Amino acid sequence: MTTHTQETSVQEFERAWMEKAIRLATHSVTDGGGPFGALVAKDGAVVAIGHNQVTATLDPAAHAEVSAMRAACRELDTFSLDGCVLITSCEPCPMCLSAALWARVDRVVYCADRHDAAVAGFDDRRFYDLFEKRPQSMWPMAVERLDLPNRTAPFDAWLAKSDRVDY
Ligand SMILES: [Zn+2]
Repeated sequence: MTTHTQETSVQEFERAWMEKAIRLATHSVTDGGGPFGALVAKDGAVVAIGHNQVTATLDPAAHAEVSAMRAACRELDTFSLDGCVLITSCEPCPMCLSAALWARVDRVVYCADRHDAAVAGFDDRRFYDLFEKRPQSMWPMAVERLDLPNRTAPFDAWLAKSDRVDY
């Protein structure tokens, strides 16, 4: 019974965090960034947040996930995110997955997927094809999807923004 209760609360936490990541992603669009948001959580609390700042900072690696992990490491004063979960509004690209592996993140949870992103003009699928993916069961880090009804809200905001800088 106790275990079940804990599992339920973890799911509720993660749902709330995912809603926050989606809000970060949607706000990012009006803030001059790309429609992606992420956060790092540990022990039931948010450690750090991040949003896409590729065009704003002229940094092609400034994806939401990388930004959140960098901020989390600064916040925790460590280079290891062991024991942390990375929550991201969209399926992480190979670079962000690699960074999460190097950071020793426990789990990655995403909402929108690569196909949702492609509809908004973000087609990273060709990069995925460059990586020979091993079965998820062989990975040291779980990557799971948490689908919510508003998963494309950041992309909707992006497509509706007339003065966006496509990249
Ligand atoms: Zn990425």
